[in-house]
Amino acid sequence: MKNAYQVLHKVFGYQEFRHQQADIIEALLNNQDAMVLMPTGGGKSLCYQIPAIIRPGVGIVVSPLIALMQDQVDALNQSGVSAGYLNSNQSNDEQQQIEQQLINNEIDLLYVTPERLLTNRMLSLLRRAEIALFAIDEAHCVSQWGHDFRKEYQQLNILHQQFPGIPRIALTATADKRTRQEIIEQLDLHQSKTYLNSFDRPNIHYQISEQNTKAGLLTFIQNHHKHDAGIIYCLSRKKVEETADWLNQQGLQALPYHAGLSQQLRETNQKRFLREDSIIIVATIAFGMGIDKPDVRFVAHLNLPKSIEAYYQETGRAGRDGLAADAWMAYGLKDLMLLKQMIQDSDNEMQQRISHSKLDSLMALCETTSCRREHLLNYFDEETSSSCGNCDICNSPPETWDATDACRKALSCIYRTGQRFGVGYLTDVLTAKSNERIIQNGHDKVTTYGIGKDISVNEWKSIYRQLIAKGYIDINFEQYGALTLSEKARPLLRGEIELKLRKQTKKAAKKSESKAKSTLRDIDEELFEALRQYRYSLAQKESVPPYVIFNDKTLVEMTRKRPSTLDQLGQISGVGDKKKDKFGEQFLTIINQHKIHPWLQNELSDTINTTLELYLKLKDTQAVAEQRQLTVSTIYAHLSSAIKNETIQLDEIVEINDADIRQIRHAIDLCGEGGDDGAKAVFEFLNSEIEYGIIHCVRSSLGTHT
Ligand code: ADP
Ligand code: ZN
Repeated sequence: MKNAYQVLHKVFGYQEFRHQQADIIEALLNNQDAMVLMPTGGGKSLCYQIPAIIRPGVGIVVSPLIALMQDQVDALNQSGVSAGYLNSNQSNDEQQQIEQQLINNEIDLLYVTPERLLTNRMLSLLRRAEIALFAIDEAHCVSQWGHDFRKEYQQLNILHQQFPGIPRIALTATADKRTRQEIIEQLDLHQSKTYLNSFDRPNIHYQISEQNTKAGLLTFIQNHHKHDAGIIYCLSRKKVEETADWLNQQGLQALPYHAGLSQQLRETNQKRFLREDSIIIVATIAFGMGIDKPDVRFVAHLNLPKSIEAYYQETGRAGRDGLAADAWMAYGLKDLMLLKQMIQDSDNEMQQRISHSKLDSLMALCETTSCRREHLLNYFDEETSSSCGNCDICNSPPETWDATDACRKALSCIYRTGQRFGVGYLTDVLTAKSNERIIQNGHDKVTTYGIGKDISVNEWKSIYRQLIAKGYIDINFEQYGALTLSEKARPLLRGEIELKLRKQTKKAAKKSESKAKSTLRDIDEELFEALRQYRYSLAQKESVPPYVIFNDKTLVEMTRKRPSTLDQLGQISGVGDKKKDKFGEQFLTIINQHKIHPWLQNELSDTINTTLELYLKLKDTQAVAEQRQLTVSTIYAHLSSAIKNETIQLDEIVEINDADIRQIRHAIDLCGEGGDDGAKAVFEFLNSEIEYGIIHCVRSSLGTHT
């Protein structure tokens, strides 16, 4: 394992293993098999890459997608790891060269498709080579019940039979139990330990709103993702085209992607999305499989997906790099009607039932009044402890109201008008809108005419939508989408039960919906953009995607810490030795051109930074406290954190003089460090004569080498 840590630091430039990476790597190094379930972005690749590098021989990685292979191999090569792939897109010469490297044991990792692996030629090559391990990526492809079934995957147990004793690792991000069991069966992994991680994606902020307007989408993008890459999903090709056109008119760079476009255009658009920095892809669900881009900052749904599974998979494409990302969805009554109609139109009754129940679960997620993440994870049988604090509901809990009375009016209006009309008409009747059809039909005489004037038209629509979502109302598609009462409606109509509904959300929640860039402060924007542009030019030169040079997370850390030496640069997560040597000097030059006060070169929280900035200006804790409307001890606590983290030094704080420091140190020697209560003991020991906050700062400095 010492080797494993060394490879982690030197080759990949990371400080620590994540999740169960260390255990998994250790198992493989000890010749054991492993079954790994980790969410997207969790860091599955390192689990087999590191053992493949350390173990003698070549690690064979089975991967279903050619596009993915290339990116992985590019990334490995950039980090100085010798890797290759074999697929049908290569020339014969290229293929032969790689095969030779395999036999000569000149590469550490070889990526192949399952089809290729199963050929006799490949199997006999493998028998002549030394093999470090087999990694079976996207292992859920063996599952018939899964969504990406590949029949070749089912033959992969051949590896076990023909190459006994070589450790195998199967990896997937698909959570459900049934698929998991199938992988173990099909791949004969009964002996292997299963490494199951939480499927939570804590960096993704979830937001679902029922107001589906173009303006809403634009505001969301402009406020939170102005220069970011994102994916927008629409249900139809037409809507894809319209949305992309419209976004382009608004000055954004949006490209369409759907099955109706030529293969060539699809490829170009996908490539631009991968290789450029701020492209928005507007797509049908045809897009996304095998998109491994780590810095997708948002995924937006302009229509309802079919199920929670689909929603989770599609939104999961955001934020693979672990930085904050947004899953944003807006839907309307029309979507719900459309999906219901699509289900109705399918003629397989069993399929209809499944689809209905999946849609119901999705609607429950949309209409929930408690934490979205909790709801999602519970759906996947994962227990959660409490509200997440990173979803729209947690950030601004919706108000509910006792809608029993209004619902009775809404249902009653359906009944009185003969269960033959849609939402628009019903709302007109309730609010006594002048409408010729109503008069022709004599519905200005029914008892529900005008009884809903106290509620706005939009509010009525929302009530109907929620009643449909909750199953009180059915839709009759033979009757052009007329609303009808379901069984469930009766007790409500008779006043036997009460019903609470969500209030219409008025405006987007005030609180920042996304922390996508909260890791960057205003003073960081300029440098970050400069680094990003430089990275882009390097990426072009090397013809790789920008994130293969350094990912966003690494650039953010560089921007915050502003290292000035190669050594300091090497401490930054994602800067391995090879990249440091190759690109280090140039990045340092750019950083050096954007100097800020050393106090602000830190990764401390925003509030601490605000204090530091003000203190630099005012040089007085009292004044900073007043301006920030915080207590003096809070200001000292901020300074103390900055001291602890070695951003600032004790003697840079004007209120602290040498005599005090000596006294406090002396007192600490006598009282001992005393854990959390230590400062209090010292304070009392010094007869409360020295400011408590100062004691705090001096104690913090003791852990550092000042
Ligand atoms: P997955 O295949 O599980 O979706 P990846 O293997 O692509 O995820 O890893 C996601 C990102 O996290 C990559 O940018 C990867 O380099 C990074 N990463 C993986 N392990 C670590 C680690 N231990 N420390 C820091 N970053 C890591
Ligand atoms: Zn939440």
